[in-house]
Amino acid sequence: MQALESLESNVRSYSRSFPAVFTRARGSIMLTEGGQRTIDFLSGAGTLNYGHNNHQIKLAITEYLASDAVVHGLDMATPAKLQFMDTFSSVILRERNLPYRFQFTGPSGACAVEAALKLSRKVTGRHNIVSFTHGYHGMSLGAIAASGSRYYRTASGAALSGATFSPYDGYLGQAVDTADYLRKVLTDESSGVDYPAAILLETVQGEGGINVAGREWLRSIQALAKDVGALLIVDDVQMGCGRTGDFFSFEFAGLSPDIVVLSKSLSGYGLPLSMLLIKEEFDAWQPGEHTGTFRGNNLALVSATAAIEIYWRCRAFSQTIHHLGDFTRRRLETIASEHGNRFAVRGRGMAWGFDCEMPEIAAATTRTAFEKGLILERCGRVDEVIKFLPALTIDSETLDEGLNIFEESLVKTLRQC
Ligand SMILES: *Cc1c(COP(=O)(O)O)cnc(C)c1O
Repeated sequence: MQALESLESNVRSYSRSFPAVFTRARGSIMLTEGGQRTIDFLSGAGTLNYGHNNHQIKLAITEYLASDAVVHGLDMATPAKLQFMDTFSSVILRERNLPYRFQFTGPSGACAVEAALKLSRKVTGRHNIVSFTHGYHGMSLGAIAASGSRYYRTASGAALSGATFSPYDGYLGQAVDTADYLRKVLTDESSGVDYPAAILLETVQGEGGINVAGREWLRSIQALAKDVGALLIVDDVQMGCGRTGDFFSFEFAGLSPDIVVLSKSLSGYGLPLSMLLIKEEFDAWQPGEHTGTFRGNNLALVSATAAIEIYWRCRAFSQTIHHLGDFTRRRLETIASEHGNRFAVRGRGMAWGFDCEMPEIAAATTRTAFEKGLILERCGRVDEVIKFLPALTIDSETLDEGLNIFEESLVKTLRQC
């Protein structure tokens, strides 16, 4: 731990919230150097939807490595890539009647968001991007420009341009339909808002505080994008790959976005893999016009294919996620009601937020939870929301155990303040 303080940049973050050395992990459990067992409700911020070191997925990549198959080949064709596209098309896309092309981008979510913004600008010849209050899209300059957090925006040190912010669903209270507001400004010739190349949104804002957009609102935004000639980009980096119950977070609203951004849990194993799904008519790239060294890393494509084969061939996995999600929601709502309803519970599928309103309460609760063996992260405007992103493969005993630790930690915090 000494090395962290003396050698690693001050920018390090999670090692501050969770001050331990983690040695091994499996499923929803991480072990520390001291041998302490810790339940993980953060799951790499939604990167480990199938748990740590999922043994079925691991089998596919260890076999691949042992066979000396191609690990890196820029974006050359490999059986791993062809197999991935074939499996993803038949199991995920065809089933949902979503005919998309694939664009493999650089490894991070931000790389993919950046490519999506660039493509929408190229397609429309416009520069403005409409994004939403409390949105989060990554740390590259284009992505930060479309992200709400003043902390990150200030740290960018650049004049961030090219995005116009609009209030997300519920931002002005339940009585105001913020999709109406956006329609008004985009159809008013004198509103001061430029026609957008794209409207970029998360259907549930992960970093922004587990803010949930409603079905009607999402449909209104999709219709609006079409009416004003803008592309609809759904950033499904954190909420995709089953987090909300369906493979894509927008399925419940029946959307068909023009571009979908996937990353985090796409590889199924915590390996970096990002891609865009693009409607064919918007695939306006010239060959090699957007490139990158680490596009479609073959090892990650192999684990991604395995994850889809194992979990998405039948509908049972979605049902399990919804079932675990209902259980989590009920527990959190009960905990909230037992403490005078000063807390709000929000979420969908297996993404839940417990809004403490006061960041001090959220901080003390998550600190205590870690001491008791539970990794819980905070999110929201000022880190006032406790975020629950357990692995989708978690067993109900471990889920229950984690929720009990959360409750004990909250009770302890409330007793002290
Ligand atoms: C994490 C995240 C990103 C950025 O992904 P990185 O891999 O950290 O660059 C973008 N959008 C959303 C919604 C995210 O949660």
